Amino acid sequence: MAQKAAIIGSGPAGFYAADALQVTIPGIEIDIIERLPTPFGLIRGGVAPDHQTTKKVAHKLEKTVINSNTAYFGNIEIGRDLTLAELRNLYDAVVLAVGAPSDRKLTIPGADKIGVHGSAAFVGWYNGHPDFVELQPDLNVDAAVVIGHGNVAIDVARLLTRSAAGRARTDLPDYARAAMDASPISQVTLLGRRGPSDAKFTNVELREMGELSECVPVLRAEQLPETAEGEFMERDRRLRERNLATLKSFLDIDPAGRKKRVAFEFFARPLEVLGGERAEALRCERTRVVEGRAEGTGETFDIPCGLVVSAIGYRAEPIPGVPYDAQQGIVPNDRGRIEKGLYAVGWIKRGPTGVISSSRPDGVEAAEHIAADFPEPGNKPGRAGLSRLLAERGVKPVSFDDWKRLEAEEVSTARPPSPRRKFTDVAAMMKFLEESKR
Ligand code: NAP
Repeated sequence: MAQKAAIIGSGPAGFYAADALQVTIPGIEIDIIERLPTPFGLIRGGVAPDHQTTKKVAHKLEKTVINSNTAYFGNIEIGRDLTLAELRNLYDAVVLAVGAPSDRKLTIPGADKIGVHGSAAFVGWYNGHPDFVELQPDLNVDAAVVIGHGNVAIDVARLLTRSAAGRARTDLPDYARAAMDASPISQVTLLGRRGPSDAKFTNVELREMGELSECVPVLRAEQLPETAEGEFMERDRRLRERNLATLKSFLDIDPAGRKKRVAFEFFARPLEVLGGERAEALRCERTRVVEGRAEGTGETFDIPCGLVVSAIGYRAEPIPGVPYDAQQGIVPNDRGRIEKGLYAVGWIKRGPTGVISSSRPDGVEAAEHIAADFPEPGNKPGRAGLSRLLAERGVKPVSFDDWKRLEAEEVSTARPPSPRRKFTDVAAMMKFLEESKR
C-alpha cells in the first residue's frame, strides 16, 4: 500500500505538485485529474502562441512527472463526473490546482457592448481553448485598447500587431490567425491607470514590443520619469529601472516602414465604453499616483476604438464544498493547507501572480503538508477506486497515451513553420481518439 493523492488540474501548478509529492513521499500514487482531454492548463491555453520556447516546459514536466506511479485522467470534470466529496473518499489527499480561470471584471458603464472582451476569453480564443472558440471577436476595426499594464495586456497587444509572417510561426488556431491577419487594426493603446514605474510588465516581454517588424511603440517622453518613482525593495527597484530604460529606448526607434502603433498610455483609467450596440471609443480619466494609488484628476479624454480587451487580472471560481475568499478570489489556506486531506497550489492558493515556475514552491509546500498529515500509507482505494467509479458511470477518461496521440496528430498536421495545429473542440478530440484506435 502507498499514500494516495489526487490533483485536480493539470496546469503547471498541478504538475509541480505531482513532482514534489514524488520526491517527498517516494512510492506515493498520484492521479492528475483534468477537465479537458488536453493537459497543461495555462501552458497550452494561456502562454502566448508566439512564445513557443516557454511552452516547451510542458515536455520537461511530463518527462519528470508521468510514470507508473502518476497517471493522467483527462476529460473528467469534478461536479459533472464525480463530486469532490467522492474524490476525497477515494484518496488520502486532494490537491486543488485549478487556477484562476475567470476575469477580474471590468465594471464600467458600457462594458457589455459588442467589442469588449475580458482577457481570459480573448486569450483563450486565440489559444484554441475549447471554452472560448465561439468568442469570434470582431477584429475588423481600426483601433483597439487593451486595459492593464501587465504581461497579459502586452501579449494581446503584441499578437494584434505582429506581422503575418510572425504569426505563421505560432500555433495560433487557423480561425484566430486568419482573423488577425485580415484585421486592419493599426493602432493599439495599452492603458495603465498608474505610471511607468508601476507597470507590471516583465522586461523581456516589454523589450519584445520594440522588436516587432511592423509595429512601433509610441510614448510621450514627458510621462517617463528620470528614475523609478515610489518606495521599492532593491530588487524591485532594479526591475523597474530596467523597464524604464526599455521604455526610454523606444523613443529612439525609427517608425519608418512600421505601419502599426502600440501607444503606451500611462496615468489613465477607463471610465466608460462609448458607442451604440458596439464599442466605438473608450472614455478615460487622467490620473495621478498618490501613495501608490491612482486618483482621478477629473480631466477626461476619449480613445476611438472598436475593440476593448480588459487585461486587469484573473480570479478563481468558488468550488462547492470548499471555502472561498471572494475579496481575494482565492481559497483561504494556511501555506497551501486548507484542512487535513485538502490542499491548494498555484493561483487558486495565492492569486494570479508570477510566472510559470512560481508555482513550483507551492507544490513543495503542499507535499510537505501531505507528508506530515499522512506519514503512513492508509487504506484508501485511490486509482483502483476512481477507475471503478468512472466505469460504473460509463465515463471514459483520456489517458496520457491518448493525449500523446492527440499531440502527435497536432504536430503532424501542422503547416510549417507553425509547430502544431491544435485541436480546439472536445468532440473532435474524442472522435479522433475513437477512430484512431480502430
Ligand atoms: P497583472 O500583472 O496583475 O496586471 C494587471 C494590470 O491590470 C495592472 O496594470 C493593474 O494595474 C491593472 N488593473 C487592475 N485592475 C484595474 C482596474 N480596475 N482598472 C484599470 N486597470 C486595472 O496581471 P496579468 O497581466 O493578468 O498577469 C497575470 C500574471 O501572469 C502575472 O504575474 C504575469 O506576469 C503573468 N504572465 C506572465 C507572462 C510571461 O511571463 N510572459 C505572460 C502572461 C502573464 P495596477 O498595477 O494599478 O493594479
